[in-house]
Amino acid sequence: MTTEQTQNDTLAVLNPATGETVGRVHDHSGEEAAALVDAAQAGFEAWRATTPRHRSEVLTAAFLGMRAHADRLRDLIVAENGKSQADAAAEVSYASEFFRWYAEEAVRTPGDYTEAPAGGVRNVITRHPVGVAVLITPWNFPAAMATRKIGPALAAGCSVLLKPASETPLTAFAIAEILTEAGVPEGVVQVAASRSASTVVSAWLADDRVRKLSFTGSTGVGRRLLAQCAERVVNTSMELGGNAPFIVTAGADIDAAVEGAMLAKFRNGGQACTAANRFYVHQDVLGEFTEKFGAKIAALRVGDPAQGADIGPVITEKAAGEIRGLVQRAQERGAVIAARAELPADATAAFLAPTLLTGVPTDAEILSQEIFGPIAPVVAWTDLDAMIDLANAPEVGLSAYVYAGKLQTAMKIAERLEAGMVGVNRGIVSDPSAPFGGVKQAGIGREGGAFGMEEFTEVQYLSVDWS
Ligand code: NAP
Repeated sequence: MTTEQTQNDTLAVLNPATGETVGRVHDHSGEEAAALVDAAQAGFEAWRATTPRHRSEVLTAAFLGMRAHADRLRDLIVAENGKSQADAAAEVSYASEFFRWYAEEAVRTPGDYTEAPAGGVRNVITRHPVGVAVLITPWNFPAAMATRKIGPALAAGCSVLLKPASETPLTAFAIAEILTEAGVPEGVVQVAASRSASTVVSAWLADDRVRKLSFTGSTGVGRRLLAQCAERVVNTSMELGGNAPFIVTAGADIDAAVEGAMLAKFRNGGQACTAANRFYVHQDVLGEFTEKFGAKIAALRVGDPAQGADIGPVITEKAAGEIRGLVQRAQERGAVIAARAELPADATAAFLAPTLLTGVPTDAEILSQEIFGPIAPVVAWTDLDAMIDLANAPEVGLSAYVYAGKLQTAMKIAERLEAGMVGVNRGIVSDPSAPFGGVKQAGIGREGGAFGMEEFTEVQYLSVDWS
């Protein structure tokens, strides 16, 4: 952005904890976005011609660059997203690991060489970069959702056009600078923020040179983008919404389950696609679990994360209002507030008190919606099959958690869950080395691990006459 740009050309980025403007970025028009594809195509042709070893070394430099700028990135995330400093620091570390992992994957692209069953032919199977890729990311992990896509795309030899969420574009621009410093050539990574996401993304998707869309965000927007991609049969990867069940059996280690519940529910203030959304706790341990979980919830320090609070605001006052509505309607159906943290006296309407809700009816709206905030609704169960049916009821199946003490019991339950990822006696599943993604309407494809790089490649097979 240049200083002579008027404020009409810019998008103000607000601190959700204070309402202050923390930065401005250029607001791209559709024409400006469309013009970026020329550079992206030129960047792709140059980048794909580099060696895997070179791409690996550039990604390693980017990993080290993220580490060197870790404090600055943490503060930027706190300022534009409102998560706690500890969560932001953990995100920077997690985000940088995608560059390290894909630096290592860049030199391990798999292939195959086989003999056709009838003989006389050899099949040579190779992978090639898919081309110019559009990446769309949400506001809840402004660094990690970007690097989880950029890392494998660059490793594979693609160029990328990144549209960050309008609430949190500053981190994306900072990462693009780090990539440039690391040696990524011009045109290979371009970032465009906009007040109108659909204008920018439609301009890109209309261009025949754009071959890939990798989207992370809500299932509703994902559906619309899939329809748009159908017009040109664009290769898509979709990381969409979640509604994770968190299951506690009678045999579980309750202290461990409570630790896991705190992580699964309150990391990022509950604003994670993997956040535990519904707690199914066996009747025999319900009292102990809710007492211990409630005590930890009540002890959370809510406030401005820049001042060291454990939990900040949710992203906007509008989001907070929607979550308050879910809690109120659950209470009207009989749910009870069993524990609640205190709000600071000067809390704005964007702050929500972390809350434990018990006695929630199994068909309450709060259990079928992605809450995306610090509210933990608990349902008691006694019949395993009926509980698993409830756990599998939503149309999305991203993640789930099971605490059952004995590993074999936990794994037997985990295998019956319709979820792409299950934390088994663990409250977190995200790992750069593992396939992240969901089943049903939670998405298509996987990010992370070797799977993440496959999403940015096309398979080609050469049928070679061997007679
Ligand atoms: P969102 O409203 O779907 O937005 C996500 C991104 O899509 C933003 O960059 C947004 O831009 C853009 N967008 C919105 N409408 C668009 C359109 N018509 N065309 C093109 N782009 C469009 O989701 P969110 O509220 O930011 O994020 C929360 C959701 O993301 C939750 O459902 C969560 O579960 C999901 N999520 C999933 C994963 C996963 O890996 N499965 C990870 C994190 C989050 P603007 O900001 O400019 O509107």
